[in-house]
Amino acid sequence: MKIISVLGSTGSIGTQTLEVVETSQGKIQVQALAAFANISLMEQQIRKFRPKLAVLYDHKAATELKARVKDLPIKILTGMDGLLEVAVSPEVETVVTAVSGSIGLRPTLAALESGKNIALANKETLVAAGELVMATANSNGCLIIPVDSEHSAIFQSLHGDLRTVKKIILTASGGPFWGWDRAKLAAVTPEMALKHPNWNMGAKISIDSATMMNKALEIIEARFLFGVNYENIEVLIHPQSIIHSMIEYIDGSIIAQLGMPDMRLPIQYALSYPLRWDVNFNPLSLAGKNLTFAEPDHHNFPSLNLAYKCGKSGGTLPAVLNAANEVCVHAFLARRIKYLEMYELVEQVCSEHQVSAADNLAKILNADNWAREYCEELIQRRKK
Ligand code: NDP
Ligand code: MG
Repeated sequence: MKIISVLGSTGSIGTQTLEVVETSQGKIQVQALAAFANISLMEQQIRKFRPKLAVLYDHKAATELKARVKDLPIKILTGMDGLLEVAVSPEVETVVTAVSGSIGLRPTLAALESGKNIALANKETLVAAGELVMATANSNGCLIIPVDSEHSAIFQSLHGDLRTVKKIILTASGGPFWGWDRAKLAAVTPEMALKHPNWNMGAKISIDSATMMNKALEIIEARFLFGVNYENIEVLIHPQSIIHSMIEYIDGSIIAQLGMPDMRLPIQYALSYPLRWDVNFNPLSLAGKNLTFAEPDHHNFPSLNLAYKCGKSGGTLPAVLNAANEVCVHAFLARRIKYLEMYELVEQVCSEHQVSAADNLAKILNADNWAREYCEELIQRRKK
């Protein structure tokens, strides 16, 4: 039996992780759960999965949750201290990191330092602090197993010597606005951007998929997870999201992983690895399917090139890219900025950052803070 904790249990990945737990027939047990403020769903999850520890980051919500579950033998905590305790909870073997944003960084590092494996959905953490996170995993002998469907596909397709990998080909659906030009994109509203053609996901990653910033972050995620150079990571548009990514080897052989667009498969594999379990959530039937491919459109979707630039520069710049993007996505969702302003602002914050080495947590958190504050200042200036 595998004992897990879930950071972000009430979200899209978190709830699907708990579905995988339910269908695992006792092979997975939940020790600890954490979310931001969703009291009623957290209460339901506690009653169903009986964890020993639950956290709501929001203090008021945690107090109310505590009152609601006082009939149960469970510890309720709050804030960053609570998240850190979920991350290092004794007996836990694997921490599923499914919070959204770089708030996941400190708990991920704490989990690795206490020897836990990570089932990683929270890509922002790896973008912000890839070198530090991978070094911490290595020095503590921990595995980081990708949940992100593209990286799970690469992980599943990777055999043998990394030096035989010619390139990683990350597939991208292109999002809801594939084929649109700037004139059309200028009028995009949050409602339009939240409707992804293939996946039903949380708000932040849905906006990132629309701007293609999601694929941009995934380029940096792949670089750190698999240790390949940026020159060897390519993006290919594949609107049907059936091929989840591929590896081209030096002899020209291309190995891919296919499946329906359903996150329960990569989540389950991250928890069953190195085994495969006999649960097929969503069978894929290929007959009659039309799989198409295209080059990315760098003119109308400039995020990919920005990611290559920030990634190659390295140091604190990927953390800044991620933080500025988080601020912009939330400002766009709150209708404080327009769709195309997200690109302009993220680009400006990145170009004005004084890059330094990202070799410790303090430097990374400083860069992340600077980017958030400066991006917010730029948004305020635009409103005047
Ligand atoms: P959601 O927005 O659906 O869920 C986010 C989860 O994080 C919720 O449980 C939320 O709690 C919790 N949370 C947010 N802030 C905090 C905090 N400060 N402390 C504790 N918990 C917090 O996001 P997704 O599930 O879509 O995405 C999660 C991560 O997985 C992201 O990094 C995303 O990029 C990645 N991912 C997601 C995919 C998907 O299909 N959804 C696919 C691949 C990767 P509450 O509900 O209380 O607000
Ligand atoms: Mg993905």
